[in-house]
Amino acid sequence: MESRQKLADRVALVTGGGRGIGRAIALAFACEGADVAVTARTENEIARVAGEVEALGHRSLAVACDVTDPQQVARMVAQVAERLGPVDILVNNAGLAISHKFLGHPDDLWHQLLAANLTSTYYVTKAVAPMMVERRWGRIINIASMASKIGSRYIAAYTAAKHGVLGLTRALAAELVSYNITVNAICPGYVNTAMTEAAIANIVRRTGMTEAEVRQALAHTSPQQRLIEPEEVAAVAVLLAAETGKGITGQGINVDGGAVQS
Ligand code: NDP
Repeated sequence: MESRQKLADRVALVTGGGRGIGRAIALAFACEGADVAVTARTENEIARVAGEVEALGHRSLAVACDVTDPQQVARMVAQVAERLGPVDILVNNAGLAISHKFLGHPDDLWHQLLAANLTSTYYVTKAVAPMMVERRWGRIINIASMASKIGSRYIAAYTAAKHGVLGLTRALAAELVSYNITVNAICPGYVNTAMTEAAIANIVRRTGMTEAEVRQALAHTSPQQRLIEPEEVAAVAVLLAAETGKGITGQGINVDGGAVQS
């Protein structure tokens, strides 16, 4: 039995790698032998994660970038390729969740959520995919959501964007299959991160429920009655990124304690 690390000699790029799920994926990849570039807008957060990757014995690079801006994306990807080499594994994880009732939904909020969750995935994938095509190997992992598969109230724009991410995943899986590139989405339920903390604070503000009540309500969206930990999402990303994950493509894999069964 080979004991080689699953991602030895691979170069990975994780968007939204400064905290939460992105940070957990960056560290899990480094533990499996990858060099990992992280990008987001908050420089001190990505610098800290790059330091953590280096402390695990691998090369890293933190590049500040707003992934909704195609010019910044092109510069960021070029910088990563120049410093670490061509990207083998791309994780489109950067995202934004803001809830609002559909009636009276502000148009700018709609565009902001589509840009942050869906168009960003398009821009970064478009910039990275040619390197994978040229080398006939690649893994693209999009962090989608339970909201990629079911509709819930007050998150119409987020839900539309995350359904779009799953649609893009399936289309690219079909289009890039002949280049030995797999494209998959991971669809988590509520995860224990800053994004969920912000959602809890927002619901407390709007409903007058206590923080404990809101926490329990979110936990109860899962049959396991708990939030998912970022490391559980990262473990699936490692599986998809590994050579042994090559048979899995075009999938939206739920990590939600059994909430969604399709
Ligand atoms: P966090 O808010 O903790 O982290 C989001 C990351 O994305 C941050 O590093 C943030 O950095 C980055 N980011 C956001 N917008 C941009 C942008 N325009 N350009 C570059 N980077 C950006 O969220 P989570 O870790 O919880 O979420 C990660 C992903 O998982 C998201 O796509 C989210 O939709 C998805 N998800 C989360 C769930 C949850 O319950 N938390 C459930 C299901 C899916 P910065 O702000 O510094 O740019």
